[in-house]
Amino acid sequence: MPYRWPTETVFESLVLDVEDRSCPLCGRRMSVCDHRHHRVFTFAGPLHLICRLVHCPDQTCPAHHRTFSPEGEMGIVMPWWVVGWDVFCWIGHRRFARHWSVPQMRAELNDSHQIALSNDAIEKYLSRYQEMVAARQQDPRLLAQAYQDVEAIVLSIDGLQPEKGHETLYVVRELTKKRVWFAESLISSSEAEVRCLIIQAREWAERLGKPVRVWISDKQDAFLKGIAAEFPGVPHRYCENHFLRDLAKPVLEMDSHAKVQMRRKVRGLRPVEREILDERRRQTSEAGKDACDHDASAEPSGLSEEAGAVVLDYCAAVRGILNDNHGGPLHPPGLRMADALGEVQQSLDRNLEAKKGGAAKLCCDD
Ligand SMILES: [Zn+2]
Repeated sequence: MPYRWPTETVFESLVLDVEDRSCPLCGRRMSVCDHRHHRVFTFAGPLHLICRLVHCPDQTCPAHHRTFSPEGEMGIVMPWWVVGWDVFCWIGHRRFARHWSVPQMRAELNDSHQIALSNDAIEKYLSRYQEMVAARQQDPRLLAQAYQDVEAIVLSIDGLQPEKGHETLYVVRELTKKRVWFAESLISSSEAEVRCLIIQAREWAERLGKPVRVWISDKQDAFLKGIAAEFPGVPHRYCENHFLRDLAKPVLEMDSHAKVQMRRKVRGLRPVEREILDERRRQTSEAGKDACDHDASAEPSGLSEEAGAVVLDYCAAVRGILNDNHGGPLHPPGLRMADALGEVQQSLDRNLEAKKGGAAKLCCDD
């Protein structure tokens, strides 16, 4: 879809010419036969490329009907794009290295660079960026370079189904270099189709000339059979991730049960707090009365101001511990709760011990 430029846009013009003007067939100097106008956003401002197209002027030359475009255009922008390579790379980098959202990029482009793009347009450029990255990842020469120091490779295959009933995206990864080797959407996950992916993985490994140390997957049937057939003798391990996922649910259930038990045991914070606060209120009002009566001889009963503050701090800490629900199956919240409550217990014990020790010392001094 053509981009509609705001009428007030000011463009810088750049005229581009074909580098070699001689006809590749007859060698005559080719003449300009047309102009292609390409308007494009760059970080240096809107650019109007005027590409001078040429053809062979000799009507009898077979190259007469061919048009040649300036080579320089592709260095600035791809055909039909409305953003130059600089903006294109910025979009890809912000999305995949910084994890910006599309609306966030859209706002930043608009605010800081006066580049007005729709969310759709940004998404379109993102998918092209991904295609380019994927193509680069799969370049055999680059791959061989990346793997030159690797002794043996570790392969994994996984099927991801974004929604039930939709096609499944199968991803083959290599784990020593943490690279996605390739991915393909399969509508049916038949053994034959999955087998093709495993064959492709074998071909890649062979091209690299590296042995496969182990395969890792969730061990679904099609993977088991395909890998056993294409990689005889290579061990096939159950994926730790799937293993954890399968364990996580019962672990979290048990953990949640343990939390309920702990909360049931550690209770009654509010009455303790209320007692302190009531005592404080009583002391304040008595102090006020004393000030009026000029009779401040009586020491207030119960806890001192400082001791009360310490008790309130303990209550706040314990409440924080009981309300903390963070942590997943690898850091179960219940275990953390038990640890934290244990620390509070130890802290209380230390205080009691100190008090006892202090009292004992006083005794000895006597
Ligand atoms: Zn010619």
